[in-house]
Amino acid sequence: MGRLLVIGCGGVASVAIQKCCQNSDVFNEICIASRTISKCDALKSKLEGKTKTVITTACVDADYTGEIVKLIESFRPDAVLNVALPYQDLAIMDACLETKTDYIDTANYEPENTDDLDWRAIYEKRCNEEGFTAYFDYSWQWAYRERFEKAGICALLGSGFDPGVTSVFSAYALKHYFDEIHSIDILDCNGGDHGYPFATNFNPEINLREVSANGSYWENGRWVETEPMEIKRVYDFPMVGKKDMYLLHHEEIESLAKNITGVKRIRFFMTFGQSYLTHMKCLENVGMLSTSPIMYEGKEIVPIQFLKALLPDPASLGPRTVGKTNIGCIFTGVKDGKEKTIYIYNVCDHQECYKEVESQAISYTTGVPAMIGAALVLSKVWDKKGVFNIEEFDPDPFMDALNKYGLPWVVDENPAKVD
Ligand code: NDP
Repeated sequence: MGRLLVIGCGGVASVAIQKCCQNSDVFNEICIASRTISKCDALKSKLEGKTKTVITTACVDADYTGEIVKLIESFRPDAVLNVALPYQDLAIMDACLETKTDYIDTANYEPENTDDLDWRAIYEKRCNEEGFTAYFDYSWQWAYRERFEKAGICALLGSGFDPGVTSVFSAYALKHYFDEIHSIDILDCNGGDHGYPFATNFNPEINLREVSANGSYWENGRWVETEPMEIKRVYDFPMVGKKDMYLLHHEEIESLAKNITGVKRIRFFMTFGQSYLTHMKCLENVGMLSTSPIMYEGKEIVPIQFLKALLPDPASLGPRTVGKTNIGCIFTGVKDGKEKTIYIYNVCDHQECYKEVESQAISYTTGVPAMIGAALVLSKVWDKKGVFNIEEFDPDPFMDALNKYGLPWVVDENPAKVD
């Protein structure tokens, strides 16, 4: 039915591409393009002969719109799936605009070097929300809305797990279970163990920046900011067990606050063990999480990129990670005048993922929804012109596809709440 250009060939991309190849009726042809073409070629060799999808590869530096435009003009895809890094989002969106091609991603734009930016000034200018300094938000990408609409193309933002599946869970809960949703608690639990003293389960740079930032949540129409890891709760996760979890800022809070009408509070919690937090604090204290270049023996290095080179590659964690993830949302609200609470979640087993696609569950739980979002856009099941967060589409076809492609979900109508 269509041609997809996939940009990036890391942990998430590898799963998304393998899943596209399981869905050859929709993805007739894919081009895997990334900075390091050897990774694209290796994946192509692994998949060829096992799928009807025709695979080509290309080298692209997606920091440069011109390079992406050239590639789009030669491959002529129906859509571009961006599973490189959030730093490339705008350059890829610009290329999609120039070539009138649909766009899908899994993470919102972040500028690469944040140390020098005056975030408070940016935020105050943008929305006048006092005290909110988180460094990633949707304003940059939402600013493309009119231009995408005029060009007659679609940008689907946030088609991973969180954002992504959790956002679709929210739209689904509102459509089928509530007249009004009052609170959403997004709970992201990784109960997996890779056996290393310290490793991140997706891109270390993105992961550590996210976790070391100030926390924030949405309440009664405004942001409430917290210190990093200031709010801790313990939750007994189905099929995983009791875990400590901490409140973080997370990008989908911003879009859900706009798109889930009537919602009064949205919080995001992620589980961390004490050892992870101690390692991270120590690295932060000695400056290893900085994105500002420093000179070392006559060579410029960026501390967090140097750290990334030392840490295990997230893609290598697959064979050694055991245990399960449980990611989902607890909703409270009202249906037919009665208060109710439901919990929609998915449980994913690291070893099962490895058996299927040689990857751990974090890449799997992101790569599968990335493929599903791309499939729905490519096949025009989701057909809107402009820039949209994923919860703005009909959730039903996406929920059906989750069951079909390896991320089955559960609705618990009597869950424990988070205080
Ligand atoms: P990886 O670091 O494993 O892979 C990133 C890939 O992007 C690599 O192939 C890298 O190439 C490529 N890349 C980086 N810069 C460029 C560039 N300038 N031009 C072309 N290619 C480039 O990351 P992950 O697979 O773990 O994460 C991918 C994305 O998924 C990220 O945006 C991340 O934030 C998002 N994500 C979203 C989640 C969600 O639930 N929504 C959860 C987890 C991740 P090279 O090999 O040369 O470095």
